[in-house]
Amino acid sequence: MADPAAPATEDAAAAPARDFVREAIREDLAAGKVTGVVTRFPPEPNGYLHIGHAKSICLNFGLASEFGGRCHLRFDDTNPAKEEQEYIDSIQADVRWLGFDWGEHLYYASDYFAQLYTWAEHLIETGNAYVDDQTAEQIRENRGTLTEPGRPSPWRERSAAENLDLFRRMKAGEFEDGSRVLRAKIDMASGNINLRDPVIYRILRSPHPRTGNAWCIYPNYDFAHGQSDAIEGISHSICTLEFEDHRPLYEWFLAHLPVPAKPRQIEFARLNLTHTVLSKRRLIQLVKDGHVSGWDDPRMPTISGLKRRGCPPEAIRDFAQRIGVAKANSTVEIQFLEHCVRENLNKTALRRMAVLDPVKVVIENYPEGQVEEMEAVNNPEDESAGTRRVAFGRELYIERDDFMENPPSKFFRLAPGREVRLRYAYFITCKDVVKNADGSVREIICTYDPATRGGNAPDGRKVKATMHWVSAAHGVPAEVRLYDHLFKSTDAGAGGDWLADINPESLKVLKGAVVEPALAEAKAGERVQFERLGYFCADPDSKPGLAVYNRTVGLRDAWAKIQAKGG
Ligand code: ATP
Ligand code: MG
Repeated sequence: MADPAAPATEDAAAAPARDFVREAIREDLAAGKVTGVVTRFPPEPNGYLHIGHAKSICLNFGLASEFGGRCHLRFDDTNPAKEEQEYIDSIQADVRWLGFDWGEHLYYASDYFAQLYTWAEHLIETGNAYVDDQTAEQIRENRGTLTEPGRPSPWRERSAAENLDLFRRMKAGEFEDGSRVLRAKIDMASGNINLRDPVIYRILRSPHPRTGNAWCIYPNYDFAHGQSDAIEGISHSICTLEFEDHRPLYEWFLAHLPVPAKPRQIEFARLNLTHTVLSKRRLIQLVKDGHVSGWDDPRMPTISGLKRRGCPPEAIRDFAQRIGVAKANSTVEIQFLEHCVRENLNKTALRRMAVLDPVKVVIENYPEGQVEEMEAVNNPEDESAGTRRVAFGRELYIERDDFMENPPSKFFRLAPGREVRLRYAYFITCKDVVKNADGSVREIICTYDPATRGGNAPDGRKVKATMHWVSAAHGVPAEVRLYDHLFKSTDAGAGGDWLADINPESLKVLKGAVVEPALAEAKAGERVQFERLGYFCADPDSKPGLAVYNRTVGLRDAWAKIQAKGG
């Protein structure tokens, strides 16, 4: 497995992460409160993982690796109504793809249903839980508010014997769904609403992906989570800030049950990203309502979407490390994620030539039928990537927008009478333009200077532009998909009609691209730079005779601009 703790940048190498989570762990180790570090990543299998989860995964697996401990993958599968095997499978694939390995430590909260049930009976027997016959509506009404205490349920003072009998009959399936619940008996006047006799078991006849029809009562999240942590010997249970108010309840259960360990919950701020949504409910809606092609649509902030888009797992880990962990909620610019991806791909992606919107160039003084193999550098950032040979001939394609018949003063690329360099090949000069009936350019007639082979003039004369090209006789057809942010606004329409904020131009499909032959053989997932255009990734939709590429990110760094503006 890749080492997640290995700093992805030199800056990070110089300064190992020192955030409040790591400080707390160091203190616990120093004080002898724990002897080792055991963390867990606890997804609920009710959707695909997204970049926010990646932050949590990198943190939990990263801590385990830094402190020589281990990290468990635990499915928090206590709500069978929304959970599916597809999600369980995708979550495992995504965590692995990110570069992490839970070894043999794969767990399910549902593995603990029997133990949790026994502990629920223990709470009843010790006078710390009761069966409530109120409806969900009544429970809500009687819970009180931030300023008013709650009202005790009329069933709050049932005897332990009666509670035990009712709870056992709940389990046996004697009662309707929703007709009774088990509640912890804590404090209806607590300033923390989570402590006002929280519901810990509900009746729900819904087959579970793993336990099938074995149970018709299910523990809720709060009753399952801390106890699962304790069973697994988790030392530090790292979660997001919204669980801060649940911590007293987490600790109450650990204090009132004969659990084998007392894990410590530590909260950190969840990741928010501009121009996207990270709520599973919304992501599900995008998929189910067909706003995107699926969970792995390259515009989605899901791990599988980022993967298909071409983001390397190393770049996502680097991003997670560089945003760090904090105690206050904030929003990260999506351009920073793109910046991390670009930085990684700049070092790793092989350079290739592709013409997205081709127009033909005919070199009239180049011998008909002649083909030359030009030597092209694979990656100027990595000498070991070597070189390749690219076929050059009399007819080529260049980008339509690299030519202008009547160029404004700042346009330095090809124009009538002008000489430019074709990368790795020759200087060419535009002599004439052949047009279609509608006035559009059909062919650009050029001449070349044979003395400039390789791209340099022996007389030292300069040109102002170097352009990419693909030989017409050798190029391979390709479909190229260009992506933009999925949402127009930085806050993705938060507070308003968020679906109306979907960017109608988030996907542009170019069907007539031509790419150099090396790109036709790319395997799905292979990442390259199209020279002058950006970073692209071969899509699994590629088939013999048609390469399909996704644009991962462009070359221009919008993050640098945002930073400059912010000062
Ligand atoms: P749900 O709304 O379904 O609870 P969730 O995003 O909280 O969605 P979980 O499966 O419960 O999904 O999350 C698994 C873990 O990932 C939790 O520990 C959660 O705190 C963490 N997590 C979820 N979203 C983020 C985020 N945006 N940033 C950091 N961590 C996150
Ligand atoms: Mg959650």
